[in-house]
Amino acid sequence: MFRHRPLLLCGFTLIAFQIAAAQQAPPQPPPATQQQPPAGVAPQAAEPPRVAQPAAPQTPAGPQVTFNSVYVDQPYIAMTFDDGPHATLTPKLLDMLAARKLKATFFVIGQNAVEYPDIMKRIVREGHELANHSWSHPNLGKMGDDGVRTQLQKTDEAIEAAAGKRTTLMRPPYGSITPRQKQWMYETFGYKTIIWDVDPFDWRRPGPGVIRDRIVNQTQPGSIILAHDIHPGTIEAMPDTFDQLTAKGFKFATVSELLAMAKPGARPTATPKATATRAPGAASDPQPAATAAGTARPAASPASGTRPPTAPATAPRGNSSPAMPASGPAATPNG
Ligand SMILES: [Zn+2]
Repeated sequence: MFRHRPLLLCGFTLIAFQIAAAQQAPPQPPPATQQQPPAGVAPQAAEPPRVAQPAAPQTPAGPQVTFNSVYVDQPYIAMTFDDGPHATLTPKLLDMLAARKLKATFFVIGQNAVEYPDIMKRIVREGHELANHSWSHPNLGKMGDDGVRTQLQKTDEAIEAAAGKRTTLMRPPYGSITPRQKQWMYETFGYKTIIWDVDPFDWRRPGPGVIRDRIVNQTQPGSIILAHDIHPGTIEAMPDTFDQLTAKGFKFATVSELLAMAKPGARPTATPKATATRAPGAASDPQPAATAAGTARPAASPASGTRPPTAPATAPRGNSSPAMPASGPAATPNG
């Protein structure tokens, strides 16, 4: 089926990126919270063609500002959910997380955040993390600084209103963002750009079982898992996904918690084996979203103000080949 081809392409892409990363990624002097594996490179597991972020070219010698995954010495992972909050699916997801005492990170769309302030507050109250995913889900990589500033600022304020504090994390829709913009956002808002290394392509609605298997099979210690709390099938897949990841020994943390656990060095590839580790306060996060900017119609015009589950889905995600849109700036498929 058509999935194989993209996978092969991805394999090549990943290899190319890994080589590139190895050559250029200067070891970064990670100030406390940031270390990272060769950024920009999706650890092998990821099937999607995370093309974008070419070898994390961010700061020449400064702190790392982009993260696809984190090198940790304990089996911690971060579940992230993008594009919400959703009126009914997000609360349902929160119930699932609460029942298991798991934490996640939610990369919210500003328009939805202001529409569902109670859900936003519940997310915070239950220990999860809120992060910026723009105001209306545009292709930031193709926008000027003024437009990007507006997209981030308004959502930043909505998050602060709900959480009582600002977020320091952002995920560009479709993973589309240029290296210069990443640095600019870091300097302007203090934002670290969070991508992902595990992408179940849930926006394509492959079915709960497929979503679960892709996540469970690709997750490694330090993984940042992308998912969307605006698709019914994704939510339906979560109970088994959470339980199977837990059974494999993984522990859930929010993205900020995971970044704080980063260790210098290369990221291991083995899967955890139920290591008894102490649990830092774990919290999980929202998930990143989907695809790429480039392929199908990039800059998806966020036609509707509220991006309920559908809006974003169409545009970016529609394209099946996650191949990179050379067109844009570093764009990653999904997101
Ligand atoms: Zn998204």
